[in-house]
This record gives sequence, structure tokens and C-alpha cells, in this order.
Amino acid sequence: MQAWFWCQARFVLGASFLNALPLPDADRDYRAALCRFEDDLFARYPDGHRILGEAEAHALIASVFTACGRAVPSLDLVDGFADPRIGGFADVEGNRIMIERGCLYRFLVLHESAHLLAPADHRHGPVFTYVLQMLYRTFIAVPEHAIRDLLLRHGLPCYTDLPQDVRIAA
Ligand SMILES: [Zn+2]
Repeated sequence: MQAWFWCQARFVLGASFLNALPLPDADRDYRAALCRFEDDLFARYPDGHRILGEAEAHALIASVFTACGRAVPSLDLVDGFADPRIGGFADVEGNRIMIERGCLYRFLVLHESAHLLAPADHRHGPVFTYVLQMLYRTFIAVPEHAIRDLLLRHGLPCYTDLPQDVRIAA
């Protein structure tokens, strides 16, 4: 999957691929369901809940964004957010990932990275979810079937096919 990602990430992030994904439910923010999905997924694949060292987190971010041909964002550890339920934030304008000190979970670094890679879909819709599941498969080695089953169970957009597996109408 890592080798696939290095070859395909730029194509996947291109407008022709992402624009062909199903449209989101316009009135809906999928955030709450997505949080429950992540809890369930990483209860089964605990590497996602592993806390990274700062250097490790920087290296992970560098691999993701280098493969995607995007500028590598900075990572700022902060004391917390106004909303205590939030542990991370993607500052799209500043190309910066902010994560609460003590919450440098592998999955959270990837989740905030997905926000920077798919900034238009800030309500956790199909484009965001597609990019996110690609990162979880590549960098946490979660199998596709586990992701698809849990996305379905939580009522989330569940498109997970890799581009070479299927023809998507442009
Ligand atoms: Zn988010």
C-alpha cells in the first residue's frame, strides 16, 4: 500500500478523481459519526491510537505530503482548544497542523493531514473520507474490508476502491 501511495497519491488528489466521488449530503456534518468510526476502527487496530514522538510525527507528515506533492505543513503542539472534545486542528491558510500536547496520536496526525489535503470538504464528507481511509490504509496498515465495513456501519460515505480497480465517470 505504501508503494501504491507513492505512485498514485498525486492522481487521487487531483480534481478529476476527487470530483467524480459521490456528492455529500449537503446539510450534514459527518464529524460525530466519523469520530465513532475512528474509535471503533482503532480499538481493532491499536497502532492508530499509538502516541508518536514529535520527530516521528514530523517524519510521518513529511512522508504523506511529499508523496502527495504538497508543501509539508508545520506541526504545532498546543496546550488545548476551547472545545475540550477537540484534540487537533488543521489550519488550511497557514498550512499548519495543531495538536494538543499529549494527544499526538498516529491517527489524529493523519486525520488533520487529510483536512489539509481535502480542504474543501471540511464537513467530513465523501472526499475527506476517501483521502482519510487512504491514509489509514497506507500508514496504519488497516485492511480495506475493515474500513469499509465500519464506514457502512456508521452511515458514512464508504467509497474505498483504488483508482486502478474501477472506472469512475469523469
Ligand atoms: Zn476533522
